[in-house]
Amino acid sequence: MRTLISNGTVVGADGSQAADVLIDGETIAAIGTDLAAAGMTADETIDASGKWVIPGAIDVHTHMELPFGGTFAKDTFETGTRAAAFGGTTTIVDFAVQSRGKSLRDGLDTWHAKAEGNAVADYGFHMIMSDVNDDTLREMDGLVDEGVPDFKLFTAYPGVFYSDDGAIFRAMQQTAKNGGLIMMHAENGMAIDVVAAQTVEAGTTDPIGHGLARKAVFEGEATNRVIRLAEAAGVPVYIVHLSASDALAEVRHARDRGSKAFAETCPQYLFLSLDDLGHGFEGAKFVCSPPLRPKETWDDLWQGLVKDDLQVVSTDHCPFDFHGQKDLGRGDFRKVPNGLPGVEDRVDLMHDGGVVGGRITKERWVDILSTAPAKLFGMYPQKGAVAVGSDADIVVYDPNRKRTISAKSHHMDVDYSCYEGRQVQGGSDVVLSRGTVIVRDGQFTGRKGAGKFVKRRAADYARMS
Ligand SMILES: [Zn+2]
Repeated sequence: MRTLISNGTVVGADGSQAADVLIDGETIAAIGTDLAAAGMTADETIDASGKWVIPGAIDVHTHMELPFGGTFAKDTFETGTRAAAFGGTTTIVDFAVQSRGKSLRDGLDTWHAKAEGNAVADYGFHMIMSDVNDDTLREMDGLVDEGVPDFKLFTAYPGVFYSDDGAIFRAMQQTAKNGGLIMMHAENGMAIDVVAAQTVEAGTTDPIGHGLARKAVFEGEATNRVIRLAEAAGVPVYIVHLSASDALAEVRHARDRGSKAFAETCPQYLFLSLDDLGHGFEGAKFVCSPPLRPKETWDDLWQGLVKDDLQVVSTDHCPFDFHGQKDLGRGDFRKVPNGLPGVEDRVDLMHDGGVVGGRITKERWVDILSTAPAKLFGMYPQKGAVAVGSDADIVVYDPNRKRTISAKSHHMDVDYSCYEGRQVQGGSDVVLSRGTVIVRDGQFTGRKGAGKFVKRRAADYARMS
C-alpha cells in the first residue's frame, strides 16, 4: 500500500517546506515537490492543500487503567489510544507500576497485558518503582535492554509511591551505569501531608484545600533536591508535570550551571488555574498533583517553553468520572482520586494557545509535542519526524478549523471535560499510524490491537545536550 500526501506544508521542529510525502507500507519513502509529476505512484492520494503535515504527536505521560485511590483510571489502552488518535497523538508512553513487594517484571508484564491486542496506536512504557532494593536495582538493567529505559520515582504520596532520598539516589546511581533515565514526581509529600491534615482539621474539606495544601514551595524544594541528587550521581533527570514557578526557577538555575535537568509541563498548568478548584465540590474535576496554580504562573511556563527550560508538554492523562469516582472525596479532598483527562486535547490546546496565541512558532509546537519527546525518550527518528525512513505516523492538520471542546463530543471514556465549552482553533483531519489511516474527518478507521510496543533506546540525547 502506497499513500501520497500531496500539496501540504511539512512542518518539522527545524523548519517547514511545501512538499509531498510518499508512504510505502509503514514508513515514509520520499519527501519532495511534485512527487506525482516525478513519476511516483500511489494507491491513495490525500490532498493536504492548505494543511500542515506533521509527525504524529507523542504523549510521554499517560496512565491508562492506573489503580489509584481505591479505583482505576477509566480509559483502557483501547479507548485511551483511540481518543489520543482523534487528537493527533499516535504514540503514548504509559507508566507500568511495580506494586510494593513485587518485581518490576511483574508490573511490566501486567501493563503489557493491558496494552497488547487493545491499543489502536503505538505505545511504550516507563516503569514506576515503588521499592528500591538490590533485586529491583538489578532488574532495572534488564528493563533498559528490553526497551523500557526510564524509571519514575516519587518524593510525593508517602505510603504509596513515595521513595526517600537514599532510595532515589541509589536508583540514580544505577542509571549512571545502565544508561537509563530517572523521571521524578517532585513535590515534598511529607510536608504536604502535614499541611493537608491541618487544612482538613481547620474545616476546609472541599477540593480547594488540595490546591492550598500542596504549596508551590514544596514543589520547588523537591525539584531542587532531586536535581542536586542527580548531579551528585552524575546522571540526567527529567521532572514530570512541572507546574510551579518555584520549580521552573530550580530547573532554569540547574540548566544554567550545566546540569542535565529536563522537564515537561502539561496543558492543565497552561490553561487552567487554582480558581478552577473552587466552586465547592465541582473543583474535584480539577484535582491533580501537582495542583493547578494561580493564573500568574501561566506566563512563566510559556516562557519556559520558549527558552527550552521546559522541553516537552505531555498530559498526565489519568481520567476519573466525576460521578462515581471523583466523589470518593466528598467531605475530604485528600480522598479525591488525583488525575485529569487530557490525552485528546493537548495538540489542539497547544496549537490554539501557543501558535494562534503568538507564543510559540508552529515548528516549536511540533518540537514540544513530538520531536523533543522522541529524542529524550529514545524513539528518534523512528518517531517524532516526517523524514525518509521514519514510521509513517503523520497528521494532516488543519490550522484554521475551529471546534468546541465538550464531554458530549470527546472520545475519552470520562463523563466530563476540564475544557467544557472552550473554543480552540486547529484540528487533526487525517491521522496515520505506521501508514494506516486511523482517523479521517472525525471517524475512526483504525483497529483495536493494531498498536505495537515501541522498544526504546536509553536516552543518549539526554546525556549529550
Ligand atoms: Zn502521572
